Amino acid sequence: MGFSARFVCWLTAALVAIAPRAFAQALPDLGSAGDATLSPQMERRLGENVMRDIRFREPSYVDDPEVAEYLAGLGARLAQGSSAVRQDFEFFAIRDSSINAFALPGGFVGVHTGLITTSETESELASVLAHEMAHVTQRHIARMIGQQQQMQMPMMVALAAAILLGRSRPDLASGAIAATQAGAVQASLGYSRDFEREADRIGLQALDAAGFDARAMALFFEKLQRASRVADDGTMPGYLRTHPITFERIADAQNKAAALPYRQHLDSPDFQLVRAKLRAEAGDARDAVSYMDAAVREKRYASEAAARYGLATALLRAARAKDAEAEMARLRATNTGGAMIETLDARIKQALKQPDAAVKVLSAARGRYAHSRAVLYAYIDALQQAGQNEAALANLAEPMRLYPRDALLHQLQAKGYAAIGKRLLQQLQGSLPAAIEQLQLARSAGDGDFYQLSVVDARLKELRSQHTQELRDAKK
Ligand SMILES: [Zn+2]
Repeated sequence: MGFSARFVCWLTAALVAIAPRAFAQALPDLGSAGDATLSPQMERRLGENVMRDIRFREPSYVDDPEVAEYLAGLGARLAQGSSAVRQDFEFFAIRDSSINAFALPGGFVGVHTGLITTSETESELASVLAHEMAHVTQRHIARMIGQQQQMQMPMMVALAAAILLGRSRPDLASGAIAATQAGAVQASLGYSRDFEREADRIGLQALDAAGFDARAMALFFEKLQRASRVADDGTMPGYLRTHPITFERIADAQNKAAALPYRQHLDSPDFQLVRAKLRAEAGDARDAVSYMDAAVREKRYASEAAARYGLATALLRAARAKDAEAEMARLRATNTGGAMIETLDARIKQALKQPDAAVKVLSAARGRYAHSRAVLYAYIDALQQAGQNEAALANLAEPMRLYPRDALLHQLQAKGYAAIGKRLLQQLQGSLPAAIEQLQLARSAGDGDFYQLSVVDARLKELRSQHTQELRDAKK
C-alpha cells in the first residue's frame, strides 16, 4: 500500500518536471482541434521518460532479467496473435502483491508480481496481458489524453500518470491531480466502457490465436470480482478501478470464448518457475523458506520442480547455501530442464565460494540456451567473479554486436575493463613490460568501441614511453 502512494506521487512529480522540456517541440500538434490523439512518437517518448524513472528510481521495479525475459516471451506470443498493428512492447514487473497490470504510453506494460503469483494458469496471466496490449494497439491511452486538449501540458501528463498506473490508492492519485489544478477531470480516470469492451474483444482474439485457453479471461474476471467482494475495508484491487468489471463483461467474455473451439493450454515450465521465484523472493526470507518448505512437504504444487526451485531460491536468500545445494540436487533428480534452474545452480555455487564450478554450469547452459539473455548476463558475471576478465570481454564481443543498445552488456564490459585496469595498476609496481603485454591482451580481447580502444591505446603509448625512458635511464 505504501508503495502505491509513493509511486503515484513521485511519478506524477517526475512527469510534470519532464513535460515542458520533452514536449516543447511537439506541443503545437496537441493544440490542433482536428487531432484528438497523441502522436505515436510523442506517446513513445512519454512512455520512455516514465520508464527511465521507474528503472532508476522506483525500488519496487523488479530488476530481474529472467522475469523480464519470461514476460517478453509471453507478450511476443500474444503479439503474434494480433496481426493488425505493428507495435513494440516492453514488459516489466513491479513488486507489489496487489493484482494489477497497466499500460504506459508507447507500449510499456507493467505487471504487478501479485498478478503473476495469483494467476493459477498461464492463460489467466496471458488474458490480462492481452487486454492491456489491446489498450495499447487500439491507442486508447493516446485517445484519452488527446481528448483533454484544453488542458495545460503538465496537467495532461499528471492525468496520464494517474490513469495509466491503475493505482490502488485513487485518493492519493486525485490528491496529486488536484495539486496540478486538474481536479475537474477526475471523472475521466479509468478506461471508458467502450474501451474496456474493445480491449476485451481484441484481447480475447489474441489469446485464442496464440493458443491459450480463451475461457481463462472470464474465469479471471470472476476471480477478481470475488476478491473485490471479500475486501470489506473499502479497498478494491487496483485493476478493478481502471478496468471496472461488470457482469456484462464477464458474460461477454464467456459467450465469446464458448464460440471458440476448446483448447487445452499446457503451461510453460517457466511460468511455474517465475511464480516460484517471485514467491520465494517476497517478504521475509525465513517466512519464504517456511512457506516453500511446507509446499514441498505437503505436495501443494502444480510442479514439483518449481516448488523445489522456489525452496532452493528461498534457502539461498536466507543465507543457507548448503541447504540450497541439497535442494538443488533433489530438483535435478526430477529431470526438469530450464535456463532458470541453471542460473540458480550457479548462484548457489557462487554462494558456496565455488566460482569456477559456477562458470562451468553456465558455460554449458550458454550452449543449451543460446537465445537467453539472462543466461548470458549470468555467464559473463560468473566469469568476472572467477577473475576471468579477458574471457568475459571476449564473450561479450558478439552479443554486443547483436544487441548494441543493451545497457547491461555495456555495464559488464565497463566492469571488465575496470578490473583489468586495476590489476594493471598493481602490476605497474612490478614490471612495465608485463603491464604492456597485459594491456595488449586486453585490447585484443574484446571489441571495445572507439572510445574505449583509444583509452587503452593512450595508456599503452604512455607505458611504452615510460618503459623507453626507464631503459634509457638504466643505460646512464
Ligand atoms: Zn482495461
